[in-house]
Amino acid sequence: MLARIRSAAVLGVDAYLVDVEIDIARGLPTFATVGLPQGAVKEARERVYAAIANSGHEFPLRRITVNLAPADVRKDGSAFDLPIALGILAATEQLGDGPSPRPPVRPPSLSDFVILGELGLEGGLRPVRGVLPVALAAKQAGCRGVIVPHANLAEAGVVQGIETLGATSLPEVAAFFAGCGRLVSATVDPARLFGVNGHDDVDFAEVRGQGHAKRALEVAAAGAHNLLMVGPPGSGKTMLARRLATILPEMTVDEALETTKVHSVAGLLSPGASLVTRRPFRAPHHTISDAGLIGGGTYPRPGEVSLAHGGVLFLDELPEFRKNVLEVLRQPLEDGTVTIARAITSLSYPARFMLAAAMNPCPCGFWGDTARSCTCGALGVERYLARLSGPLLDRIDIHIEVPAVPYRELSIERDGESSAAIRERVNRARQVQLARFAKRQGIYANAHMAPRDLRACCRVSAGADSLLRSAIARLRLSARAYHRILKISRTIADLAGAAEIGPAHVSEAVQYRSLDRPVG
Ligand SMILES: [Zn+2]
Repeated sequence: MLARIRSAAVLGVDAYLVDVEIDIARGLPTFATVGLPQGAVKEARERVYAAIANSGHEFPLRRITVNLAPADVRKDGSAFDLPIALGILAATEQLGDGPSPRPPVRPPSLSDFVILGELGLEGGLRPVRGVLPVALAAKQAGCRGVIVPHANLAEAGVVQGIETLGATSLPEVAAFFAGCGRLVSATVDPARLFGVNGHDDVDFAEVRGQGHAKRALEVAAAGAHNLLMVGPPGSGKTMLARRLATILPEMTVDEALETTKVHSVAGLLSPGASLVTRRPFRAPHHTISDAGLIGGGTYPRPGEVSLAHGGVLFLDELPEFRKNVLEVLRQPLEDGTVTIARAITSLSYPARFMLAAAMNPCPCGFWGDTARSCTCGALGVERYLARLSGPLLDRIDIHIEVPAVPYRELSIERDGESSAAIRERVNRARQVQLARFAKRQGIYANAHMAPRDLRACCRVSAGADSLLRSAIARLRLSARAYHRILKISRTIADLAGAAEIGPAHVSEAVQYRSLDRPVG
């Protein structure tokens, strides 16, 4: 007696279909799972046994073999519980035993659906990871639909063009395939999930002074530029960074799908959630490990750089991070992905984020301060800065100094500009960029431009060109720094609604390169 159920597993942020084959033969009662089962898959037997027994069916006391094909890829997680249980019921002809003897409708075919779900001992279905990638894979394979735990239904429902059905228990799914029960279906129109803004508990209106820093954050948000803030403790770097989340531009549907896939395989979507439509803001502590930051582990999970995909990765006290941890940031900053080497294969996660970092100018924090004196000494300051490697600093577009705010500015009663007003400008500038890069797949903002895009997209006026040349000569800038200035100028021009980069845009961009030391 053999049954075959279609299911799926996740590799990286994509899913591939898995056939769950159940063979039941005469012999001593055994239960063997083959096809590289890992972790939770190996424990499926106990859950499946209890779930079948507790939902009024009979668990066959015979020789049961479960094969997960293709057999050469490791499979982990609890999502195979439901297909295994269903396969056992099908192989023992228990699917027809519904409450009504003759099914009122022709039973749906098991092979039309991709099925996944974790079973509780009482037969209920619990949510699983990676439902969005699975639904996308099922659609691509031409399946009729997917059956998922009810808590994952909104997530699957985002995928258009296939049936997305949710179930709460094993008996419900069994009744559905017996032709005497229905499952809840869901379709979610992704476009309708956007523009619904959650309320932020912070706002730029609360920030007094720091006009220069606020403007730099606006430019960074508009073009997705990496940013480093340097300033003494208490100058408000962290407070500014937290408010960066409130002015990030709206996501496109494609961006939201990419980010949601990562959060889905990480198991971070809350029950009933569908798409991540707000850009993520991740702020890991400086004690994080390199695996925590870039991902990995025995059962690989995306790290912070991938959870920040499409949004912001905020690293406070940048030099306090371990050197090897900062070192692993280079690949995602350069390529927008991370690759994790595994024993059998390697897998990659998307990791295109905007890096926002903050640091003190020296260990005590008061180097360069006019009111207090630094106790670190020249050597101490140098050692502190040397913790950041050149290649890392090289990948940061905007550096700004955030000085302590003088008391008289703090005491001004007037409120600053609200986040909503700034966000509107940022959104407009991003729209210009989306139109500019409409034909370039995966590029959504000026910061992602490759050198060949620079030539095509950064038309510079004659006046701006001579200003740029003199800045390069005066500051002895590297070619990389020159490219950064061009990209930032492009964003500043976009904020101003200008097609051509003018002198004012270039001179503002040059100001954001305060850490560029002369080359050589
Ligand atoms: Zn100091």
